[in-house]
Amino acid sequence: MKHNFGAGPCILPKEVFQEASEAVIDFNNTGLSILEISHRSKEFEQVVVEAEALVRELLEVPEGYSVLFLQGGASQQFAMIPMNILPEGGKAAYLDTGVWATKAAKEASKLGNVEIVASSSDKNYTYIPKDFVVPADATYFHYTSNNTIYGTEIFEKPKVSIPTAVDMSSDILSRVINVADFDLIYAGAQKNMGPAGVTLVIVKDDLLGKSGRVIPSIFDYQQHAKAGSMYNTPPVYSIYVSLLNLRWLKEKGGVSVIEQENIIKARTLYDEIERNPYFKGTANQEDRSRMNVTFVMDTAEQEAAFLELAKERGLIGLKGHRSVGGFRASIYNALTISSVNALVDAMKEFEEKQGA
Ligand SMILES: *Cc1c(COP(=O)(O)O)cnc(C)c1O
Repeated sequence: MKHNFGAGPCILPKEVFQEASEAVIDFNNTGLSILEISHRSKEFEQVVVEAEALVRELLEVPEGYSVLFLQGGASQQFAMIPMNILPEGGKAAYLDTGVWATKAAKEASKLGNVEIVASSSDKNYTYIPKDFVVPADATYFHYTSNNTIYGTEIFEKPKVSIPTAVDMSSDILSRVINVADFDLIYAGAQKNMGPAGVTLVIVKDDLLGKSGRVIPSIFDYQQHAKAGSMYNTPPVYSIYVSLLNLRWLKEKGGVSVIEQENIIKARTLYDEIERNPYFKGTANQEDRSRMNVTFVMDTAEQEAAFLELAKERGLIGLKGHRSVGGFRASIYNALTISSVNALVDAMKEFEEKQGA
């Protein structure tokens, strides 16, 4: 058995893989594969309608927001957000908490003025800046709620008085959020919602149509909203597999239930990192992520030896991102507590072997 701690594309529930594979052969007894049906067919239309309804239900999306399934990944959103809401010559405020936040700001700076309100680059993004001022004359504020690479997370929305856009790629659906706090939420599906190829965007309708820019249709949220995410051929299979995962989450009891599991999983792993003298967490304690747990060892030899032991125990995807080193255990929704326990057991085993 393999325990997949990969950061993304990531683990999905076994049941989802099972059903997804069946649909490749015969989708809903149509006698056709999900890969060959028309995206305009009644059957697929129902997939999009149900997926949207489930996102609205699971996240309790209020009235006045569009829920879109787009392509181009979270990276495309880095550009689409300023294209759609930042006026020519306007200013946007960005919080710099890591690689993804930096990339988002860089794209916005191609379309307007970007003010970095704070950055934790001075300590390799191991913490979340707390005291910063967001300029009131900026059109919007952008931040990344979970820093996938550095293992830090922002659980409470910073207090700002201007519209807020948030990259929730790696913690969407992992904890309860108040959608009304945000004007735009986006997430590449491949960390917690589904497979690669589709991006979820939840956008307040009031925010749109005000930038005064000419926006190419394919990048225009309003065009996608008007077309019900069917402006052009959508990523049919990615949306379908996301639907299966959303159904799975609903059956489990929804976001508040998975949040409790995620809290226990994260605590179990952080407790062992703190207890075990061979491992050391890299993120500032109060900013530690529940989704990506980053840790290191004292020497490269120890790290190589532990990685080898982990591999023997079926624990994969643990190697840390090159900018942090060490290890990163991504413990997304679909990763079970028994997989976390298997990792903790391997850490204990390593300690015992050293002591022997
Ligand atoms: C992975 C990731 C991205 C990049 O997503 P793509 O879909 O590959 O563009 C952006 N932001 C965060 C927080 C991520 O984890």
